[in-house]
Amino acid sequence: MRRSLIRSNRHHKKALQKLPLGVSSNFRYWGKDKTIYIDHAKGSRLWDIDGNEYVDYRMGYGPGILGYADPRVDEAARKGMEIGGVFALSTELELEVAERISKMVPAAELVRFSNSGTEAVMAALRLARAHSGKDSHIIVEGGYHGIFDSVLWYADIEEWKPGTDDPPIEAEGEGIPKLLKKLVHFTPLNDANYLEDLLKRHHQDIGAFLIEPIMGNCCSITATQEYVHAAQELCEKYNVVMIVDEVKTGFRVAKGGVQELMGFKADLCTFAKAIGNGYPISVVAGREDIMRRIGDGVFHGGTYTCHSVALAAAAKTLEILDETDALETIANYGATLQTGLSEILSARDIPHCFVGHTSMGGLIFNDQPPDNYRDWFNSDYSFYDTMAPELHDLGVLCEPDSREPLFICEAHAKDDSLSHTLKAFEQAVDVTIEKIKHQA
Ligand code: PLP
Repeated sequence: MRRSLIRSNRHHKKALQKLPLGVSSNFRYWGKDKTIYIDHAKGSRLWDIDGNEYVDYRMGYGPGILGYADPRVDEAARKGMEIGGVFALSTELELEVAERISKMVPAAELVRFSNSGTEAVMAALRLARAHSGKDSHIIVEGGYHGIFDSVLWYADIEEWKPGTDDPPIEAEGEGIPKLLKKLVHFTPLNDANYLEDLLKRHHQDIGAFLIEPIMGNCCSITATQEYVHAAQELCEKYNVVMIVDEVKTGFRVAKGGVQELMGFKADLCTFAKAIGNGYPISVVAGREDIMRRIGDGVFHGGTYTCHSVALAAAAKTLEILDETDALETIANYGATLQTGLSEILSARDIPHCFVGHTSMGGLIFNDQPPDNYRDWFNSDYSFYDTMAPELHDLGVLCEPDSREPLFICEAHAKDDSLSHTLKAFEQAVDVTIEKIKHQA
């Protein structure tokens, strides 16, 4: 490592004494000498406590859609602070924001707010169970939907031979009740026959199909439009509620999210990251008949839902996303970045492609985009894994794990972050080539 992380390392040792792994989310732990602590952030840039500056392509895993500390949103949030916080009562602004969401996302006939993506998906699953009268659900392999027990499972491709049975299902760690296992089924993305077969076998128990059509936690591997439409038909046929998890794609890949891009309406959909430009707020929304179950048998709420600061930030963020060309700026920056990265890689004959939407593109070191998680799992992602720490040293922050796409915000364009990024990328690629040569 070339940059100094002396203060971060020192702080990490201290933090370990009070905080498990020294952080407040397992994903923020990058190893004992690589875990970074942030001093502050502005626009597309982060500064760590050692004074290292980074152009950030993680953007908090998506929330920073406009950029860190956006003055327009922060001004609105300050006004929200004056309103008083939470009152165990509602305010008029909730309706205004809900109306904006319905306007931008036609599937969002009715809207309920929560604080995090996890809470929104939890609510969607509960609604789906109540509506369908069935307790099990399907998750797409490689998908991530939050930190609650019903979704913290994975299909163990490693322990599975293609062509035999379905892959075994394992919990993502300890403490997850084993009895929930029988409620979870997995299906690979983009294989409607597999899904149909699964539903034929288990439709009596399956009440929900949970899908993120651009897999923001799996290189942005993307469902085909045909697959999404076929899945929708199958869900209708077998009385399964289709939940489209737009926690990452919502208000990012288009004003109306992935549903607008792919031309369909989910039964239920969930949103979080981009809504408040980083202020904690999320949404479960969808078909009126399903959403009306809230208050008619289905429990939903929370002390902190619609905190006046987060709600005011959401009102302003959505106004900007709806009424300005911010999303176009973001998509264009992403496209220019991809062109630049591609030129560098092609000049060195390194096979690669980009997957997903340019606002959250996955970089794959293969000339064929993966169709599903199984494809990614069987691919060689060692180039990315070796390159990521080099980029960090050169002041470009991407996720160490290649499954996380490159998140773009409006400030990347405003801050003119492109030339620094491309210069760093070129250097990182050359160092990576040398390193891999020496390893061989
Ligand atoms: N759903 C998706 C698609 C996500 O990407 C995430 C988080 O990354 C979640 C749900 C959970 O959101 P949160 O971390 O806000 O609980």
